[in-house]
Amino acid sequence: MSETAHGVSCRVADFRFSTEAESFRVDVLEWLSTIEPELSAVNSDPSDLTGLDEKFERRLQADAGSRGWLSLPLEFQAVFNYEMARADAPLIDTAMTLAGAAVEKFATSEAHTLVGESMRAGLVEACSAYTESGAGSDLTALATTAVRGSRGWILNGTKTLVTGAHKSDWCVTIARTDDHASPREAMSMFLVDMTLPGITVHRHRTMNGWTLDDIDFANVELAPEALLGIEGNGWRQMSAALGAERSGMFWIGFARHVLDLLSQFVCTTTRDAIVLADDPLVINEIGRLEADWSAAELLSRRALWAQIRGVDDTLIPAMAKVVTTELLVAIAQSATEIAGQSGLVWAPLFGGEAPAGAAADGRFAWEFLERVHGTIGGGANEVHRDIIATILLGRVGAS
Ligand SMILES: Cc1cc2nc3c(=O)[nH]c(=O)nc-3n(C[C@H](O)[C@H](O)[C@H](O)COP(=O)(O)OP(=O)(O)OC[C@H]3O[C@@H](n4cnc5c(N)ncnc54)[C@H](O)[C@@H]3O)c2cc1C
Repeated sequence: MSETAHGVSCRVADFRFSTEAESFRVDVLEWLSTIEPELSAVNSDPSDLTGLDEKFERRLQADAGSRGWLSLPLEFQAVFNYEMARADAPLIDTAMTLAGAAVEKFATSEAHTLVGESMRAGLVEACSAYTESGAGSDLTALATTAVRGSRGWILNGTKTLVTGAHKSDWCVTIARTDDHASPREAMSMFLVDMTLPGITVHRHRTMNGWTLDDIDFANVELAPEALLGIEGNGWRQMSAALGAERSGMFWIGFARHVLDLLSQFVCTTTRDAIVLADDPLVINEIGRLEADWSAAELLSRRALWAQIRGVDDTLIPAMAKVVTTELLVAIAQSATEIAGQSGLVWAPLFGGEAPAGAAADGRFAWEFLERVHGTIGGGANEVHRDIIATILLGRVGAS
């Protein structure tokens, strides 16, 4: 609360990070500077989303986990995610991010608690597998089943488009456990040990060479304690878990990184004897992107502010998701256009020496192919637009 000049108390929304969070940022940046040489071709694995080798990723996660950085309060988590994205460090899609919220919120046994602790400590990898080929935006159409067997549950079905299943020790999934209930009452959530017999992971190349995975569950025998939370409550649990961190500050971090690369590129590249940064069309475009970045960054901080205070965990985060992911697409598009032919020469992240003539070491072409993913993963933007419209029109209708 603050006092106005007229002595009236008012609640002012202040979206800035706290002093504590800014001082945490300094610690994180210092740590990043020590690992920067290792974020390079020496640890390259272009078949993984991070572009980096699993062993290296596990080592970094354990280091970050030992510092308590994988289970931070929302504000600190946003700072951490922003800086990791800006540095291309493989610490965004951790077990905690992908599955930790579900495990921690809905743990019902000692075994769940132990898995949750190992996620916090960065000692395991995990994935969340909800999507199926016939059920993406509309998860009520899920066909995977879990039926009670003599020793627990028998799981059958195929999940698709799963991030990081090939390296996961654990998987949070949902399956139909009741044939007769309405879809939202028919699902239950399970914590699955990925080493169990009957589980096969198939890796499929994305446009950028890294893989998204399918998981086949074929008569997988789950112990009774694999059930996470309450039987029949899987739908609500999944919605709660997906909403755990939606400010999306990592998108803003990626955008900052690519905009910085673009600025560097136009300041150091000459075309027809003119430095690109002196071309009014180029500088106008970069100015527009910078203005859009500032607006998106503020919106993301507003989403975070709202989530921390529990005043709106749906509308503003949905807006932030749409704006930030589409900003990334726009930056990638402008970067390739400004760079011209050299912007079309592609190289994987951390791939070592880029092909001759590649602008920004092939990063602009990589971004061009990559950023459409963000508009689909985490809920397609069209669906988020539906949510935004429904809430806003609902409010207009109600007023
Ligand atoms: C990079 C990436 C990572 C992913 N990681 C995971 C993961 O780890 N775990 C997991 O379970 N899933 C994951 N997914 C899957 C993701 O959640 C789905 O792709 C997403 O929910 C959309 O589902 P779909 O692909 O089946 O498309 P559909 O639902 O079939 O949609 C097709 C098109 O129709 C539009 N559409 C659908 N419904 C509506 C509507 N109501 N109003 C307007 N338009 C609509 C969509 O916007 C889209 O353009 C990932 C996807 C990507 C791209």
